[in-house]
Amino acid sequence: TAKNPDRPTNPGPDGSPASGTTELIRLENVTKRFGDHTVLDGLDFSVDTGKHVTLIGPSGSGKTTILRMLMTLTRPDEGTITVDGERLFPAPPKQVREIRKKIGMVFQQFNLFPNMTVLRNVTEAPVTVLGMSRDEAEARARELLELVGLADKCAARPSQLSGGQQQRVAIARALAMRPQVLLLDEVTSALDPELVAGVLDLLRDIARSTDITMLCVTHEMGFARDISDQVLMFDSGRVVEAGSPEKIFGDPEQERTREFLGAVL
Ligand code: ADP
Repeated sequence: TAKNPDRPTNPGPDGSPASGTTELIRLENVTKRFGDHTVLDGLDFSVDTGKHVTLIGPSGSGKTTILRMLMTLTRPDEGTITVDGERLFPAPPKQVREIRKKIGMVFQQFNLFPNMTVLRNVTEAPVTVLGMSRDEAEARARELLELVGLADKCAARPSQLSGGQQQRVAIARALAMRPQVLLLDEVTSALDPELVAGVLDLLRDIARSTDITMLCVTHEMGFARDISDQVLMFDSGRVVEAGSPEKIFGDPEQERTREFLGAVL
């Protein structure tokens, strides 16, 4: 892509260099019900490697459920999920564990380990899940904490930090696993208003300066417009409209999209 001209692409089926992009995530015919409430209804979509895709739409339309399925925190009732060419659902547990290492998530409520220092929060999974040495994990964690502006907070506990700082730690913790995909679930919704801009600026920087694939659920339409390659408008468990941010925010085709954006912008 224009953003990352040096990124290698997989060869085509005959070994020739692929001209297009490579698909990293694919959901096919995914259905999810809670009781008799169908939350996702035969959903199909895919995300190409290195792209930033944003899910927008009214509360309850199924956006978070999609991220939770990719994190294997909830299972589809039907359909298939494929990540980097391998089946995540349905799949045997060992395969699921391997694919899960490629995916990082930042939650609305930070979900830091309260009894661990900031540094330990960031080193824990690389050591226990990836088998990284503690020295290597700490060196990497210090770099990441520097990146998120918290180099001086290594020894602090999460409770000693502001919400914005806790969310920066959560972002560093997710990046410490060197995921191919970063899932962001309304990461600024729980923050005091004056802390929102700083966290969004950090995520803009990460989107610009890395080739990580991002899938974001957000109500921050300015942020969505800035970072997205593609925006998906959801309603009632279906994609109502998909397109570039210029198209979706500037000239949406669907009445439902216009109505939603009219209410939130
Ligand atoms: P969004 O992220 O678009 O706001 P969600 O994916 O969080 O939507 O939720 C979609 C629907 O699924 C909502 O109606 C929600 O109440 C319902 N839902 C989500 N999780 C559960 C659950 N664990 N049990 C029952 N219903 C749930």
